[in-house]
Amino acid sequence: MTRPDTGALDRCRLVCALLVVANHTSPLLSLSPFADHLLTQVWARLAVPFFLMLTGRFLLPRLRREGRAALLPFLRSTALLYAAATLLYLPLQLYKGYRPGFFPLLQDVFFGGTFYHLWYFPALLLGVALLYALRRLKAPVLLALCAGLYLVGLLGDSYFGLISGAPPLAAAYGAVFSLVEQTRNGPFLAPLFLLLGFLSAETPPRSTRKGYGAAFFLSLALLTAEGAAVSLFAKPEHSVFYLALPLCAWFLFRWLCAMDLPQSPRLRALSAVVYLIHPWCIVLVRGLAKLTGSVPVLVACSPVHFLAVAALSLLLGSAAVLLPRRTRPLPRSEAPLPPARCWAEIDLSALRHNLAFLRARLPQGCTLMAVVKAGAYGHGAGRVAAVCAGEGVDAFAVATVAEGSALRRSGITGDILVLGRAFPEELRDACAHDLILTVADALHARELAAFPHPLRVHAALDTGMCRLGFPFTSIDDVASLYGSLRVEGLFTHLCAVNDTAFTELQLARFFSFADALRRRGLGPGRLHVQSSAGLLGLPPLPVDYVRPGLALYGCGWEGLRPVLSLKCRIAAVHTLAPGETAGYGRAFTALRPTVLAVLSAGYADGLPRALSCGRGGALLCGQYAPTAGLICMDQTLVDVTELPQVRPGDTAVLIGPGLDAETVAAAAGTIPNELLSRLGPRVERVYLGS
Ligand SMILES: *Cc1c(COP(=O)(O)O)cnc(C)c1O
Repeated sequence: MTRPDTGALDRCRLVCALLVVANHTSPLLSLSPFADHLLTQVWARLAVPFFLMLTGRFLLPRLRREGRAALLPFLRSTALLYAAATLLYLPLQLYKGYRPGFFPLLQDVFFGGTFYHLWYFPALLLGVALLYALRRLKAPVLLALCAGLYLVGLLGDSYFGLISGAPPLAAAYGAVFSLVEQTRNGPFLAPLFLLLGFLSAETPPRSTRKGYGAAFFLSLALLTAEGAAVSLFAKPEHSVFYLALPLCAWFLFRWLCAMDLPQSPRLRALSAVVYLIHPWCIVLVRGLAKLTGSVPVLVACSPVHFLAVAALSLLLGSAAVLLPRRTRPLPRSEAPLPPARCWAEIDLSALRHNLAFLRARLPQGCTLMAVVKAGAYGHGAGRVAAVCAGEGVDAFAVATVAEGSALRRSGITGDILVLGRAFPEELRDACAHDLILTVADALHARELAAFPHPLRVHAALDTGMCRLGFPFTSIDDVASLYGSLRVEGLFTHLCAVNDTAFTELQLARFFSFADALRRRGLGPGRLHVQSSAGLLGLPPLPVDYVRPGLALYGCGWEGLRPVLSLKCRIAAVHTLAPGETAGYGRAFTALRPTVLAVLSAGYADGLPRALSCGRGGALLCGQYAPTAGLICMDQTLVDVTELPQVRPGDTAVLIGPGLDAETVAAAAGTIPNELLSRLGPRVERVYLGS
């Protein structure tokens, strides 16, 4: 019912913390310096990128959604942790004779970290702040930018030997190194991995667990080869950056995400503590070795040294993690409670299926604009749009400026077209959220042109529906838009796809209007005409977008999968003697001994009152039970005389397999579009198959 559990990430977190310990204790050094190099300078380099990706995965989507409200608490708690760790290591630093001047101290605090593994904190803070500042950029641009920074870091790190012979580059790196001691500090390493973590949350998997596992081991082999080659030939300055590292980290992450193991907050905390305290454990183990005269074993024998430090870190870490749990237990689960009364299950894998089904029917060069108005027809606009965006959809249509603004705030970066008329009071919001408006007519055009910034618009053409749009004869009015507005498209709406003659008339009017604009040297921009019915019922048209709504949600056509099921619980079961009546107005009379079940859903939840008195019904235990009497605002009676097994607490299906939205809508004298878009705000939306 919820996202797959990401427990494999928690387990890998601990492995990565131990890799950092290995990095600082060189476990294989006394056996084989080359093997130790591979372990500590190549494989262990996955650890920090992995930590950064975790932060990116869980923090950045919130930053997108909530902005500063999510940024500030993160910066504050990370800075606090950094300060605490600094204090923890201050005695060691002072003991080692650390007495920096003012400028080097600032450098340490803001870039290098105040102790050797603490560089992670300033790098993380800087990376998150940078990505926050750039959050409005489109993902590919941002990715290119972060990859560029990474390459700069790489050339100053493991590939330094390649460029140190080129004087201008070497001089440039001289400047970099005067500010940061090495390129893992500063803005070079963290942004790319933070962003990759974010993208892993935003893009649905394209392969299976096995596929990602294979890809990970393949990229690990690449990384190994690269690490060995670099150490032999490139005279590395340090060995933190490799070309194969982002690839390897990405596939590792996707592989783990595909594993679906239960989460473990304890392991999460333990890994953090191990990461923080293990240098102290190194000091303690060495001190103990000296005291007991066991330096040759405990320190000089590197595997024993590593194991001793790791064991001590785990021991102290477990104590630290377990102690506070006694007094303040962690929340048992982050999953939402199962819905109790009335809920809609939204099957996101069906949505993906429908999306692929529709896209397979698009002509060359035509893309899909997902219509997510009215809360995505009751399915939840934010979630539906996010899934579509994850599948590569980059254009959306909504009905109102408020819907468009909400979509933008939820993190959608693609084009958002407002299909309805935007009123002057709404233009500021529309502009601030970079929405594309529909110009409805000449009067509307003047209102839009009066706004101080040129607005992005698509012109609506009325080819016969008589709703919004310029009359198809008003070429001059539309042509004059180009001076004052950013006209990016031209569209019309078909009103009767089954009426072939009228549809052909509408199409002829539309395409000749577009030609007339072209003849005047005005690019009509992107053309679009068809909603679901037009896409699935007409031969392909020379357009740039199609605008399906209903078909996305799986209604009305063979081959689509319904996305939404509406369910509720049974609140009570009653037995009526012949002659007894039930419900408002006593509209139901028992003609025989009758059993009625009370459903916890009514017309306020979106169940049309027109389904009263046996015109509609519900499935209980897979069997149909007709409504009895009048549907109430919050409850509905159904006749379950034939279903003796029904009990209070059972689940009833109001829309779902065996009782599809088309059938229910038809029984209520309406269409599935109305039925679905009117599901009430009390109906909890539960997302499956994410
Ligand atoms: C609602 C709407 C659509 C989507 O229609 P469906 O029949 O749900 O596919 C397309 N275009 C316009 C202008 C609309 O208002």
